[in-house]
Amino acid sequence: MTSALGFGQVQTIDLHFQDTPGVVASAVFDTGDGLALVDTGPSSTLPALEAGLAALGARLEEVRHVLLTHIHLDHAGAAGTLLARVPEARAYVHERGAAHLSRPERLVASATQIYGDQMERLWGEFLPVPAERLTVLAGGEQLRLGQTDVLPLYTPGHAVHHLAYHVGEHLFVGDVGGIRLDVRQTPRAPTPPPDIDLEAWRASIALLRGRDAHTLHLAHFGAYAQTEAHWDALLANLHTDAERIRAGLTAGQEPQALSDAFTEALLAELREEGPDLPARYEFACPPWMSVQGLVRYWQRQAARAAAPASVPAAQAGR
Ligand SMILES: [Zn+2]
Repeated sequence: MTSALGFGQVQTIDLHFQDTPGVVASAVFDTGDGLALVDTGPSSTLPALEAGLAALGARLEEVRHVLLTHIHLDHAGAAGTLLARVPEARAYVHERGAAHLSRPERLVASATQIYGDQMERLWGEFLPVPAERLTVLAGGEQLRLGQTDVLPLYTPGHAVHHLAYHVGEHLFVGDVGGIRLDVRQTPRAPTPPPDIDLEAWRASIALLRGRDAHTLHLAHFGAYAQTEAHWDALLANLHTDAERIRAGLTAGQEPQALSDAFTEALLAELREEGPDLPARYEFACPPWMSVQGLVRYWQRQAARAAAPASVPAAQAGR
């Protein structure tokens, strides 16, 4: 193994999603017995994943463990394709996401409703992961991969089946750690439908910030020092975004007007932090999608208050 992937080192691989750098990442480390990847990205970026590994002196065929934070297409879309190409590799997923990985028809159908004829261009194929090649996790298991201890942490809020992984100094936080495209940007919460749960998200943040780890690895995008400021800013933005939507709904704002106003405010804030940030943010999580997730959250809250019967949420594409 090269020094870039020396034992204990973690590298970020830029998947150049839609030919845009710094939007979707995969993280890779050497377990001491083959490579572990945290999230594969979609199939459309598999060539970029291979190129990123090659730049580190590694090959896709050396991957043995695919640690999935959640099953949304931008994180897990290439898992089935990768496993088909690398027979020795396994994937790890939360128990509430496992069925969708093995039988992705419903996941793909709901994503197709959102993306229509853009599915192939954005995401590429989504091959099923054979159930026997999945390690199904609840969170809290002590995994030993090669010579490396890996602790999966159940961290819902963004998705009901979201896991983070604690490995030594490193905390792989998927989307629950927020979107932070580079150091200029304040972390923000991606809130797509259908699972957004603010209480669960805050509890997940409390769990993660209590972990003794120096570095956060974000899928969107890259590695940052774990600081109180990161988590505080994420919580503040989560609150602001959610309250914007609640206020709009309470005022009876039309869906399109609500979405437009939210998008305008969010992109203006990003633009102040960096003129190139809005365009990249749209690739990481389009603001209209965050609106839909928060609208759904508040509607569910209202329905619960009216009648305390719980309806299982369907899975969406990301
Ligand atoms: Zn994501």
